[in-house]
Order: sequence, then structure tokens, then C-alpha cells
Amino acid sequence: MRRLPAILAASMALLLLGEAFIGPALADGAPWRRRRRPGVTINHRAESIVNPADWPAEPRTPDTIDPERFARALRELCGWMPPSRPATYTEYFLRHAEAFEVDPFLLAALAHRMGRCRSDAEGMGGLGLTLIPSRMYWDDLRGGTYRYHVRGPDGQWIERSLELDRYPFSGPRLQRPEENIYFAAGLLSAWREQHQSVDATFEQHAHRHYVSHFIWGDRVRTDRSEDRILTDRRRMLQYYGATGTPRTLSRLGETWGAPLDGEPRVVSSWIGAERDGGARNHRGVDVESVLGEPVRAVAAGRVNFAGVDLPGHRNSEGMTPAEIEEVPRDSLGAGGRYVCVLHHPEGEGGPAWLRSCYMHLEDVNVRHGDVLERGDLIGTVGRTGMRRSAPHLHLELHGPDGLMDASEVLSGILIGTPPE
Ligand SMILES: [Zn+2]
Ligand SMILES: [Zn+2]
Repeated sequence: MRRLPAILAASMALLLLGEAFIGPALADGAPWRRRRRPGVTINHRAESIVNPADWPAEPRTPDTIDPERFARALRELCGWMPPSRPATYTEYFLRHAEAFEVDPFLLAALAHRMGRCRSDAEGMGGLGLTLIPSRMYWDDLRGGTYRYHVRGPDGQWIERSLELDRYPFSGPRLQRPEENIYFAAGLLSAWREQHQSVDATFEQHAHRHYVSHFIWGDRVRTDRSEDRILTDRRRMLQYYGATGTPRTLSRLGETWGAPLDGEPRVVSSWIGAERDGGARNHRGVDVESVLGEPVRAVAAGRVNFAGVDLPGHRNSEGMTPAEIEEVPRDSLGAGGRYVCVLHHPEGEGGPAWLRSCYMHLEDVNVRHGDVLERGDLIGTVGRTGMRRSAPHLHLELHGPDGLMDASEVLSGILIGTPPE
């Protein structure tokens, strides 16, 4: 084909594509139409609760991965799955991660955080295990080839292409597990390569990891999503056994561990925050978490409350897990189903006793009088007793002088900075 003179070709392109296409692309300084996930809203209140400098380096992925251990870790991260599923998904994760040279633990974290490990998931404008938004890639992934650009050494744009032709890129395909994991692995590899070029071109909310672009596209709007995905990746690595024994802290004569796996974990609401329009103050800290996550004793001790919060302080403390479940959810007070553990610090300088309480639990796995080691399972994260909030763990610490700030006692294991 003969080449058209450059000016003629350019004006034809303008006529064909129209200003709606060319306008924003040129304004953003990139030779493509800005990719954005449709239908996502930002929770501005939750922005920037973690100073990026407070995040320790993320743990490394092991050089060789044992599929059986990976499958067990996946089962632990995802919760209940049909018996053969963890092994089946593991095979997809490991094979496609290797083909595109991406981290299989990151892929598994995406499948958990985005699609809750369900292949038929829908949400955030996307479909399937990792909620891939097909509309975001429509312009660039055609005919089995994904085209994207990176900046060369002189700042010029260089086109790259990635063959993603194993399956058609379509909605129904994205709701099949293998297809979804295949496209997620391929697209992640492209974002990794493109991340710096994109960051230098589009206005960004500060973020640490290219996985943010998998969520947001060219413009990252908040870093909360990557925090959550990287937390799930740390949980997955912990269950796999790649991160060693979880960290402990020695304070107040006691040895403390994390109440949730994959530490550090993020505090989203602090002690003293106003509740019910200022009628009362928050008595503990809220730790970001998802429904069904294991909740663990922060120190060794004895269960001295396992029951429910009933309005008017008629709390009943000596209940079995079955009795707790029988109390109608809508009759519960703000604490919901909860557990308290009494600790007797043996180290120097500690108080005579300390008490940790874990509220809004979904399942309660212990009974009054049970003796626990640090890290023992107490129950699972829920939203019992809540009216509006998303599931989270409410953690309280009490001592002889009254309420204590768990975000201080556990600082390092719990991170996050209260808004000004
Ligand atoms: Zn980036
Ligand atoms: Zn709370």
C-alpha cells in the first residue's frame, strides 16, 4: 500500500475518529485513549490512611513453588471451596504466572480480593475471578493482540504488543477460571512494564505497586486497593509458609502478635472517634478486614467473655458457639457477637492484667474459660451488631487504668495514621 502524505493521513484520522477520541488522548500526552475502569467510586474518607513510608518491604515470592502447599494456602485464603478446586486453580495460577513471568501469589490475592475466589463474580465494572473490566481494554486488545506503549530513553512512545490469543477476550470467557487467570497474568505483565511510563504521563494518586493499574487503569485514584491486595498476598505467603513465624512485639510485660494474618494490618478508625453524631466515642480501633477472616488472640490468656452484646448491657458471657448463633442478629447491641481474653503479663513493668476484646464476629470459636496461646483462633471477622459499616474487626484493650489504645500497643503490627 502506498503511504499517504503525513498531513493528509493525520487529518483523515481526525475526521474518522472525531474529537471525542483524539481530544483526551492528546490532552493526557499519550497516544492512546485513557483506560479507566467503569463504575468504580472512590471512598475519599479512606484515602491515605497509611503513609507509604510506613509499609515495610513486601515479602519475596519463593524461587520454587510447591503446588500442594500453594493449593492449601489458597484454600486457607479463600475459605470454603469444593474439594478439588484449590488444586485446579493452583495449576492455572502457576502455569499462567510462569508464562507471563508474574507472581502467582499476587494473582491469587487478586482472585480473592476482587472476585472472592468465585469464577462467576461480577462487580467493579469487571467479570470473573479477578474482575477484569473488558471495556477498559476494548480499544487495545483486539484480534488476540494487546497493544500498549512505553516511553523510550528519549521520552518517545514505543509500541509494544503482547499475544493474548489463547481465548477470545469476551465476557463469558472471563467468567471461566482458567481464561480469567490467563488474561489477568498477561495484563499484569503489561502493566508492570508500562507502570513507570504511565505514572510519568497521567496524574496519579501516590501508589507503590503496578497492581494499582490493574484496578484503576491509567490513572490511579487511591492506593487503598493495592494495600488490600498486597495484604491478601502476604496472607497467602504466610499460609504457604514463606514468611516464617508471624512477628511479635514485647510491650507492657506481654508478648503480642497480630489479631489478623498477613501483618501489618491497617487501622481504619481510631479510639475516640465520634460515633452516632457525637453521642458517644469509639472505644477501640477498627482493623480493615474481610468477612470470614480468622481472628486470633493477640496474646496468651484465658477467655473471660464469649457471648453477645445485648442492648441495655444485659450481656451474657457464658454461651456456647451454638447458643450465640441462636440469638437473632437484629436483637444484638453494637458489639454483636464478641470475645474477650484476659492476659496476665509476666514480664517486667507490666500491669497485673490486660484484657483484649474482639467484636462484630461472625463465628465465635471459643468458650468462656478456654485457655489460649497467642495466635489461637478466636472466631472470624463479621459485621454482627453493625448497622451500616462493612465487615471489620473492632479491637479493644483494657487495663487497670481503663481503656488503652490498641493501635499504640500493637503499633508496627497495626499501621495507619488518623486523619488530621
Ligand atoms: Zn503506577
Ligand atoms: Zn469499632
